[in-house]
Amino acid sequence: MSAGTLKYEGKGKRLFTTNEPGVLIQQFKDDATAFDGKKHDRIAHKGVLNCAISSFFFTKLAEQGIRSHMIAREGDDTMRVYELTMIPVEVVVRNVAAGSICKRLGLEEGLPLARPLTELFYKSDALGDPMINSEHAELFGWATVAETTAMRAMARNINQALIGLLQPVGIRLIDFKLEFGFLDGEIVLGDEITPDGCRLWDAETGRKLDKDRFRRDLGGLTEAYAEVANRLNIQVETNQGD
Ligand code: UDP
Repeated sequence: MSAGTLKYEGKGKRLFTTNEPGVLIQQFKDDATAFDGKKHDRIAHKGVLNCAISSFFFTKLAEQGIRSHMIAREGDDTMRVYELTMIPVEVVVRNVAAGSICKRLGLEEGLPLARPLTELFYKSDALGDPMINSEHAELFGWATVAETTAMRAMARNINQALIGLLQPVGIRLIDFKLEFGFLDGEIVLGDEITPDGCRLWDAETGRKLDKDRFRRDLGGLTEAYAEVANRLNIQVETNQGD
C-alpha cells in the first residue's frame, strides 16, 4: 500500500495517512536527535534497523497478550499501525540507574535498582518533558489515576517481557520509555521500542548498544543497533558498506 499524506512528523518518525480510516503508516527516519533536538545528525540505516527492532518487539509482546498499535510490517522502514488517541504522558521504566535519574537524585550510573521503577513525564517538547506524578496527570486532564496505574502495570509487564528476550542474548535492559494511546476505548502501546528509546548494555563489558553512543559522541551507532538486531536474530535488509 502506498503511503498517503504526511499527517505528523516527529524527531525520529513520520506518520502518513492511508486509504483505510484509522490506519496509518509509521516510517522510521535516519535522523538522530538529542538534548531536545539541539544535537542532530543523520545516521545511515538507523530507520531500517529501528523498524526491524520495533516490529520484532511488538510482535513478541503481542504473542504475550500485550497489544500495540502495530498491525504489520510494511516496508524496510515502515509499519502499518492503528491510529491511536495518544495519552500525553511518557512512562519510563528503570532497572538500573542511568541518565536523568542520576542527575536528579545524585546516583551513580550503573547502580542496580532493588526493583523496577516507573516514572511519568509530561510529553511537551516546549517544556522539555518534565517529570510529573499521577496527580498532575489527573488534575491537568492528561490521564486519570486509573489510566496511569494501568500504563504503569503494562510498562512493568513489558519490562519483564523485554528482559526475557534480551537477557538470553547478553543484553542488559537498563531503562526505556513507552507511550500509550487509546484504541476503541482500550489502552494500547504506541510509538516504538528501539535502541533510540532504551538503554541497552552488553552484559559482559557494559558497552552501550543504544542512543547514548550518539548523545555522548561515542560513534558506532549503526553498528551497535545492528548488533542488537543480530543478537536477537532479526533479519535486516541494509546495504552495508557506508
Ligand atoms: N527517553 C526517550 N525519550 C525521551 C526521554 C527519554 O526515549 O524524551 C528514554 C531514554 O532513551 C532512556 C529512558 O527513556 O532509555 C530514560 O531517559 P532519562 O529520563 O534518563 O533521560 P535522558 O538521559 O535520555 O535525558
